[in-house]
Amino acid sequence: MSSLNDLKKQIVSCTLCQERRLIPEANPILQISTTAKVAVFGQAPGNLAHQSGRPFFDPSGVRLREWMGVTEEQFYDASKVAIVPMAFCFPGYDGKGATGKAGDLPPPALCAETWRQKVMDQITPQLELVLLVGNYAQRWHLGDKMQRTLTDTVRMWRSFVTEAADEAGPVYVPLPHPSWRNIGWFKKNPWFGAEVLPFIQSQIRRQLDMHF
Ligand code: SF4
Repeated sequence: MSSLNDLKKQIVSCTLCQERRLIPEANPILQISTTAKVAVFGQAPGNLAHQSGRPFFDPSGVRLREWMGVTEEQFYDASKVAIVPMAFCFPGYDGKGATGKAGDLPPPALCAETWRQKVMDQITPQLELVLLVGNYAQRWHLGDKMQRTLTDTVRMWRSFVTEAADEAGPVYVPLPHPSWRNIGWFKKNPWFGAEVLPFIQSQIRRQLDMHF
């Protein structure tokens, strides 16, 4: 228990990327405990999360909670849900893209290089279900099992479930990012809502011991 608390204290006081001018301002945000069985491994906090100090405290978070079938209260209960992005601080905005709207910069790799394995060593043994939200988390956790595109990787979700049943360890389910930018993807891939979401909801209900 104390080593996870010590590690969290070290992380929340980390300013490495700010010192190296990789991000505008360090404000590490993560949610970990020694008991959570469900985890969300995402990209990096957005600006609203940075301002509020709460991960996924934005419209993407609302969609993610709908996908998971959980309330805000359940989602932010560290004893039940771990939230561990690939970088713990808001990376800042990129230039304006084709849509005319700035997007978030990628998570600085330095964060995963510095902290990720240490956090995984502490929390993975008790995890049962891990949602890998987006390419960055999928690359780190699935490695060469990733497919050519995110769509192909998400389509493979059943094979990751089967693999987990054969090996000790959590079930990893790859997901697209729940951003409004992916609304076209959700429409083009109705199997995602019909097959993947009911599976993760049933697993989460079981893990959180919820009864609807
Ligand atoms: S992103 Fe990670 S490594 Fe960089 S300052 Fe934040 S906590 Fe430290």
